[in-house]
Amino acid sequence: MARTDAIVLGAGVVGVSAALHLAKRGLSVTLVDRRGPGEETSYGNAGVIEGNTLFPHAFPSGFGALIRIALKQAPEANYHLSFLPKVAPWLLAYRANTSAEGSLAFAEDMRPLFSRAVSEHEALMAEAGATRYLRKDGWIKLYRSDEAFAATARERELAITLGLSHRVLSVDETRGLEPSLMPAFRRAVHWPEAASVSNPLAVTKAYAARFTQLGGVVLKGDAMTLHRSDANWRVETDEGPIDAKDVVVALGPWAPDLLGQLGIDLPMAFKRGYHRHFAPRGNAGLTRPVVDTANGYCLAPMEQGIRLTTGAEFADRDATPTPDQFERLMPAARDLFPLGEEKEAQPWMGSRPCFADSRPVIGRAPGQSGLWLDYGHAHWGLTLGPVSGRLIAEMVTGATPFCDPKPYSAERFN
Ligand SMILES: Cc1cc2nc3c(=O)[nH]c(=O)nc-3n(C[C@H](O)[C@H](O)[C@H](O)COP(=O)(O)OP(=O)(O)OC[C@H]3O[C@@H](n4cnc5c(N)ncnc54)[C@H](O)[C@@H]3O)c2cc1C
Repeated sequence: MARTDAIVLGAGVVGVSAALHLAKRGLSVTLVDRRGPGEETSYGNAGVIEGNTLFPHAFPSGFGALIRIALKQAPEANYHLSFLPKVAPWLLAYRANTSAEGSLAFAEDMRPLFSRAVSEHEALMAEAGATRYLRKDGWIKLYRSDEAFAATARERELAITLGLSHRVLSVDETRGLEPSLMPAFRRAVHWPEAASVSNPLAVTKAYAARFTQLGGVVLKGDAMTLHRSDANWRVETDEGPIDAKDVVVALGPWAPDLLGQLGIDLPMAFKRGYHRHFAPRGNAGLTRPVVDTANGYCLAPMEQGIRLTTGAEFADRDATPTPDQFERLMPAARDLFPLGEEKEAQPWMGSRPCFADSRPVIGRAPGQSGLWLDYGHAHWGLTLGPVSGRLIAEMVTGATPFCDPKPYSAERFN
């Protein structure tokens, strides 16, 4: 049996960042995953480091939008009927949390994390030799109607109050930044202080490589084997059992499987999402990610091609993929950007791990000494991985946390 100071379970961008921050503070750390670092949800995202985020993703409002979703005609959302009864209480809580008041509370609680998101990535990228993946030219949100643009007024006003830079663009100004976009929209907002990466998988792998450079150990193993062993926690790995006083659970969408086994039941749901890669036609290209807000998809330039990521699908995490949204959104996407040949036979699918208040859980596990939680990062796991890693490492090592961690505590569900 090997002994280490801390075990981190889950090597997505959240777990790798936590492990790296713990190792930077001088702890011996073992990172355990059944796959290689970054190969699940952290592989397939749109690569946006959304430090500009103020409000959570809105619950659809208006009868028309709800009916379109119910009739499975909405490009931005999909659902499995069998999942609805299970997720209904969560959806009601989500709706309440995305009210005008709830959105403001989210903005206030989450600002300490979002405001450091880009700089925390930059610091890790510099030491991990991963700066080449970083683009610091923001992202663009497109609006297809004046009404949809007008509905963002509150968020833009708050951005002005907080000094968060953004620029409202006409169609021509937008095409000045992204000449390959076709004028299928009416207005746009450029958030220049957001950043993006050209290969999220490579970034997570680079952080994992930096972790091993600092003496960290990456092992294959099954997190579900976690159990108490005297005063320690023990997990079984391909190299044998590992013991540690502290364990950080960073299993993203799989965290409830393990926590349920330990009697910890926090109300998480999944927003599944898909991506497909396309070659651009001719000389077309994108410099930065753009999101078509009316249709809920993002077009992100990646090393693999133009990655088109979809909005939310409410379904069991492990249910068969149903990438029906592509059929509904592809005409709009092709009107916006000259998408050419598709690069893979099947779309990729992942599950965003989401709490109804859209905040992650970062902190102590209730009732289990030495057990720490760092998961539920919803739409922002790439964005918040490094800053969450700093926060959990500060808490585990007993340092003063850089911000008040209360809004992210598991106790908020009591
Ligand atoms: C379509 C889509 C687009 C997105 N776009 C963005 C974006 O632009 N910006 C952004 O910030 N976020 C985005 N996200 C969200 C982001 O990808 C996630 O929040 C983030 O990847 C979650 O990271 P994680 O490390 O918590 O989970 P994961 O990356 O899923 O890592 C969890 C790890 O746990 C491991 N694991 C699970 N069970 C076990 C077990 N029993 N034993 C051992 N290991 C186990 C898995 O193998 C995995 O490696 C997007 C998500 C989707 C689906």
